[in-house]
Amino acid sequence: MPDRTDYDYLIVGGGMVADSAARGIRERDADGSIGIIALEEDPPATRPALTKKLWTDPEFTFDKVWLNTEADTGAVRHAGLRASRIDTTAQTVGTDSGDVFGYGTLLIATGGTPHTLELPHDERVVYFRSVEDYRRLRGLAGEGREVAVIGGSFIGTELAAALVQNNTAVTLVFPEDVLGGAVFPAELAARFQKLYENAGVALVPGTTLERGSAGPVRLELELSNGDRLETDAVVTGLGIEPNVGIARDAHLEVDDGVIVDDRLCTSDPHIFAAGDIASYPDVILGRRRIEHVDNATSMGTCVGRNMAGADEPYDHTPYFYSAVFGNRYEAVGTLDSSLTTVEEWNEPQTSGVVYYLNDGNVVGVLLWNVPEQRDAARAVIDADGPWTPEKLRGRIPVPAGDR
Ligand SMILES: Cc1cc2nc3c(=O)[nH]c(=O)nc-3n(C[C@H](O)[C@H](O)[C@H](O)COP(=O)(O)OP(=O)(O)OC[C@H]3O[C@@H](n4cnc5c(N)ncnc54)[C@H](O)[C@@H]3O)c2cc1C
Repeated sequence: MPDRTDYDYLIVGGGMVADSAARGIRERDADGSIGIIALEEDPPATRPALTKKLWTDPEFTFDKVWLNTEADTGAVRHAGLRASRIDTTAQTVGTDSGDVFGYGTLLIATGGTPHTLELPHDERVVYFRSVEDYRRLRGLAGEGREVAVIGGSFIGTELAAALVQNNTAVTLVFPEDVLGGAVFPAELAARFQKLYENAGVALVPGTTLERGSAGPVRLELELSNGDRLETDAVVTGLGIEPNVGIARDAHLEVDDGVIVDDRLCTSDPHIFAAGDIASYPDVILGRRRIEHVDNATSMGTCVGRNMAGADEPYDHTPYFYSAVFGNRYEAVGTLDSSLTTVEEWNEPQTSGVVYYLNDGNVVGVLLWNVPEQRDAARAVIDADGPWTPEKLRGRIPVPAGDR
């Protein structure tokens, strides 16, 4: 029989939800034992800083990424272990290396694995997600070196901005015709793209990476437009595959994510799921899976409290944020440029609100350099339509800009 370690509360995954869940547990239970099984060797860290502040804010030193979960909550982290099976009858979790952990209640918070491409296993290829990826990319960047960023998503655009502001020659390869074109209305996407052009990023629109190989000195990339690109390193931002395998193998209900109810409980009453992997019933937006930090921290706190018996609904509709070249934008709901959009901008077009409409109802709101209006965005999405441009205008105030 393998050794078995028992915890009142066991968390699989050592990321942002693990941290906030441990804190949520402690809000209600000062003494219960908390164990964390974590694949990553590094402790829980604030991931948004890895693509933004660590590159652009000299005040934000590296030590500030750590969330200090163990020191603050007394949780015990078992690092470098992959949880591979859940026995729902015995209430145990087994790992690849044969360890067995027993639980009173279990939280699955395994996040996602970045999509990969036909690229060599090479130190110079980074599928960006973790603190270790940040360390590696730092070592590959700067000193005028060339880095190709693949993907024009939030992570791709943040990394391109971060790198070019740190003495790195950046080529950004992305499938849209205009950077941000899938999420922003046309004029905003054009202005967004201009930020990158002005900063000296070489843009390759309408293009994907087909494959790459390690040349004698540099990496050689083949692009879908027929071009070949030589570069010192490649970093990708191509989205993630939610890590739901362990839940599916345990016969929990899973579709696009692990299905949870409004208490964040799975189809097994002793097992909860939260964060990037959880498909939950949002009170305003309907059932969905959200891969953003506000969701990870708010849902994490709520799930921790519920694991410790709170029985509270998760009724927070999360927002998303990104920041590039001194612009901060936030969003609630769906950003999809194929929807009807209504825009309101200040005169120099430095701040604005974009409403995304489906059948006359607002399904998403983008706040571009508009602080403190997330509740107003939630309210307009929650309110019944039909909305017209006239009715929307002035609904969320746009700050005046410098003339
Ligand atoms: C680089 C980066 C920048 C981001 N920036 C922003 C931003 O600006 N704005 C925003 O809104 N959101 C942002 N996000 C999203 C946000 O960070 C995530 O939504 C959040 O981290 C999700 O938390 P999580 O705990 O669900 O997953 P994670 O934080 O990814 O943690 C999951 C953990 O589980 C571990 N794990 C997986 N499988 C197993 C297993 N079988 N056994 C043990 N451990 C396992 C993983 O190694 C990982 O450590 C960013 C994400 C990244 C990666």
